Amino acid sequence: MNPKDYSADIHNDWCAGCGDHGILNALEKAFAELKLQKHQVAVFGGIGCSGKTPYYLDTNGVHTLHGRVLPFATGAKLANPQLTVIAVGGDGDGLGIGAGHFANAGRRNLDITYLLYNNGVYGLTKGQAAPTIRQGEKTKAMSLPSMQSHLNPIMLALTAGFSWVARGYAYDTHQLSTLIQNAITHKGSSFIEILQPCPIYNDLHDKQWYEQCEATKLPRIYSLQEEDYDSYVPPGANKEVHEQKMIQCVMKAQEWDERIPVGVFYHEPGRAELSQQIATQQTFYQALPPARQPAIDKNNQNLLDLHHIYAELTI
Ligand code: SF4
Repeated sequence: MNPKDYSADIHNDWCAGCGDHGILNALEKAFAELKLQKHQVAVFGGIGCSGKTPYYLDTNGVHTLHGRVLPFATGAKLANPQLTVIAVGGDGDGLGIGAGHFANAGRRNLDITYLLYNNGVYGLTKGQAAPTIRQGEKTKAMSLPSMQSHLNPIMLALTAGFSWVARGYAYDTHQLSTLIQNAITHKGSSFIEILQPCPIYNDLHDKQWYEQCEATKLPRIYSLQEEDYDSYVPPGANKEVHEQKMIQCVMKAQEWDERIPVGVFYHEPGRAELSQQIATQQTFYQALPPARQPAIDKNNQNLLDLHHIYAELTI
């Protein structure tokens, strides 16, 4: 398979120059390099420009409801643990109406990957301030500066419990594809904040802004791993090691103005993934998850066998 084998034959209506194109290319490259079969992949989109991603991929996919992409992705993965499940959405979708689902997806540590396209605005509805715009900032689409302080997606993901947390840049397709591959192969909830310029409505954080700081004349974006940042938390690490790693992550996650780190912030492979937790209570789950059970017999009678689950829940 090559990356374009994963492209759907459908008109793409994202604006020219939008960072979304780079993310789509990075996803296709990641699927090809992991040699994933199309039927093994399911991509769920929220509402917003980013939510159209599933249409442009020739994999399984669903365009879901505003802020509800993670419940759909969670249900699909629980029903069929063998699927590679990707949830995508914008910062408005995931950190506004969907913030509760974001926090709960992290703490479950289910084996799914969540890509948050961060452009600071609600692009689909013409550029209103989204939750990552900073207090006092005013894009060309806003009539007044934002009055509210911003949310930091990396810090939220860390505190919610995502066990693999990273940031990428939409115009660096090669690096982003590598991050996506590592996120998919991580066994647990993985999260990538993707800096995704919206050239139509966000004139503050455009390609030029990310790629050169006016004060230093240097690129704003730098790689954590190229500066020897160590994201790894070894299995069995004690409380002090966890605390130190969290402090280190929080400090890096707050860097923004003159230098913006990308790469892997946090990697904890030793935490139990949700399907392992389920199997401790429902021993049949891994051998017979819902998607592996026949739904009907030859007479079209419903065969779906839920009595194991009901039996476990009987008080
Ligand atoms: Fe991309 Fe912005 Fe156009 Fe939406 S409005 S497609 S985010 S450039």
